[in-house]
Amino acid sequence: MTACSFQRSRQRIAEASRIIPGGVSSQFRFGVSPTPLVFERAEGPWLYDIDGNRLIDYYMALGPMILGHTPADVIEAARAQLERGLLYGGQSELEFEAARLVCQMVPCAERVRFASSGSEAVQLALRLARATTGRKVVLKFEGHYHGWLDSVLWSVGTPAAEMGPETQPIPFPGSQGQDPQAGAHVEVLSWNRPEQVVERLARGDVAAVIMEAIMCNSGGILPLPGYLEAVREACTKAGTVLIFDEVITGFRVAPGGAQQRLGVTPDLATFAKAIANGFSVAAVAGRADIMDRLAQGGIVHGGTYNAQPVAMAATIATLRRLASPGTFEGLERRGQRLMDGIRQALQEAGVTATVTGLPQIFHVGLGLQKPAVNYRDVLAADRQAYVRLTTALLERGVRALERGAWFLSTEHDDGIVDTTLGAFREALAQLGRA
Ligand code: PMP
Repeated sequence: MTACSFQRSRQRIAEASRIIPGGVSSQFRFGVSPTPLVFERAEGPWLYDIDGNRLIDYYMALGPMILGHTPADVIEAARAQLERGLLYGGQSELEFEAARLVCQMVPCAERVRFASSGSEAVQLALRLARATTGRKVVLKFEGHYHGWLDSVLWSVGTPAAEMGPETQPIPFPGSQGQDPQAGAHVEVLSWNRPEQVVERLARGDVAAVIMEAIMCNSGGILPLPGYLEAVREACTKAGTVLIFDEVITGFRVAPGGAQQRLGVTPDLATFAKAIANGFSVAAVAGRADIMDRLAQGGIVHGGTYNAQPVAMAATIATLRRLASPGTFEGLERRGQRLMDGIRQALQEAGVTATVTGLPQIFHVGLGLQKPAVNYRDVLAADRQAYVRLTTALLERGVRALERGAWFLSTEHDDGIVDTTLGAFREALAQLGRA
């Protein structure tokens, strides 16, 4: 096999950098090894780049493409709506049907409002929580990502030296230029430590606790047994709104998201990504008494593109498929095969590593002796070696995220899994030789 080359991508990114800073439109696409890629098209589990490479994709656009890149039903639904108007500045039956499906599938969803990105959905959820409780403080957790906006970009990628003691983490801004005041009422705790939440909530002044119920952004970490239940109980007792940020886990780890899979129901939840298989759709769903405050006036939720009808048509098609029997079983089985295969390949190569999370979204942590419990544990992973591994994989036609996450789709069939595992073994061997 000749190794994939990315020369044209490299060249076009350099040229594009004269008009687009860094040649990319999101900071998370910047500076990846060996170069940010430029694509021509995508199909099923495949990406085709301008160097003529066909790559097996495990980015899946960082989560949305749960049905693969070109699901015929979603595309047909969007195409049919394209001819009926792009944006009404008003409601449509499509919006109502999409909302009905969300409420049918998601345990906490008595009501739902649509937005256009996960970052925006999080802002609405926090605003609702503060308006409902009349309190200001929001608790979030180290390493949990809730979008790039000033109010929540705290303690996401904190360097170890800046974290402070685990019992009292120091909120750390995620970006230069961030308004320090936006974090004035944000407090940061270490995740998976029930006693920290219980103790803090007892003071009775916290509006909301927000978390990724399964920590996908910094390691595929499941909540410890009893953790979500303890947080749920403490929130109920303190009158604090519990928000699960299901932007990644929603419609991915189960039809009803992490809350369904783990059996703990939040007051509010945010969704995006897999809800519409690539269209810009996000949602806040939750308790009727909280959400209906939006119908009483006084709380602002805007967005020119919210519930855009083409995107709503895609949402309906996506949710119908995700709700249909068999979809999740196949995804789960093949994801499990891939996870097990990767774990076995690492073991056989004598590489210390963890493979954690769920078959639809899992995480490989090179150098970790045991599964991480929270962000502090993930920091011990050997990131540089992992980037060498993903670069070696890319040269063999497999595109996986540098930060350790693997996103599956229904289109990653057994043949694709086998090809991936072959490339993974070869990439490990190359690393061993280096
Ligand atoms: N919350 C979580 C858990 C996410 O993973 C992300 C995006 N990766 C966001 C919020 C922000 O979503 P968006 O990029 O659509 O603004």
